[in-house]
Amino acid sequence: MSLTGEPLLDVKNLKKYYKDSSFSLFKNDHSVVKAVDDVSFTIAKGETFGLVGESGSGKSTIGRSVLRLTDITDGAVIYKGKNIYQQSKSELRENRKNFQFVFQDPFSSLNPRIRIGDAIGEALLDHGIASKSEIRQKVLEIMDVCGLAPYHIDRFPHEFSGGQRQRIGIARAIIMEPDFIVADEPVSALDVSIQAQIINLFIDLQEKKHLTYLFISHDLSVVEHIASKVGVLYLGSIMEMGSRNQVFDNPLHPYTQALLSAVPIPDPTIKRQRILLKGDIPNPATPPSGCKFHTRCPWAIEKCKEIAPELKETEPNHFVACHLV
Ligand code: SF4
Repeated sequence: MSLTGEPLLDVKNLKKYYKDSSFSLFKNDHSVVKAVDDVSFTIAKGETFGLVGESGSGKSTIGRSVLRLTDITDGAVIYKGKNIYQQSKSELRENRKNFQFVFQDPFSSLNPRIRIGDAIGEALLDHGIASKSEIRQKVLEIMDVCGLAPYHIDRFPHEFSGGQRQRIGIARAIIMEPDFIVADEPVSALDVSIQAQIINLFIDLQEKKHLTYLFISHDLSVVEHIASKVGVLYLGSIMEMGSRNQVFDNPLHPYTQALLSAVPIPDPTIKRQRILLKGDIPNPATPPSGCKFHTRCPWAIEKCKEIAPELKETEPNHFVACHLV
């Protein structure tokens, strides 16, 4: 399912199920939550795959699974031809240099008592890659690339704004010279003007350092700026997937259409007809039968309540899961 180039990451039929032990008045209900339900996609080298979905759609679980930060129920994550779930601890440790994670809130992963320079260089020290003086030089280089000033090196996390903290988070991720980064809602805690700066930094770094991204966001307008390929998730399943132009210019799934209808257009002379979905996203522990989207779908027919649609290729590299497409 790659659009261009050789695949760097191939996610095959990924499933992550867990037991939900929520308490009900009548019994302890142990239903199975299908947080990720048979998801497959490929990310080519140098590509940005934007994974979009509402809260509870499973996108962060996918982000953690592709870095093996969590166990999976079934499926495979193939990185450079090897299934990372079959790798030994030492192979995985080698891979960890190439895989990095950028969090929504970098502050939570920074020790308030550790100076920024030490936090950025920490991974180099852990892996025994460079001497202390080499690390300081490398940290200064990476800080410069990430738009941080040299005098920031001896400051503490609380002295930085949200945007600067995210620059620190990115600097920590790229200092190991990775080739693949999972960025999970990296701009959603920031003001819109700062969001644009951080997205531009991701784009710049991708060009300079030939990075490949899995970029996770609930916000389609953010993904539109950075992704070359997009997957739209709903209750753990991909509803639509294709190139950015296919998904944004010709959305075929009613869920994608509804999400896009809520994205503001910068040109005030153009108005989009807003598609309002019925109700809220269902509880993942008790997803609707058939097509998981049928309880909110404006097009739903009887068949949708019973039979789940397959994710089918409707044009080259454009996949849609809907009986009516
Ligand atoms: Fe809507 Fe049915 Fe298509 Fe699902 S399969 S998106 S319920 S029309």
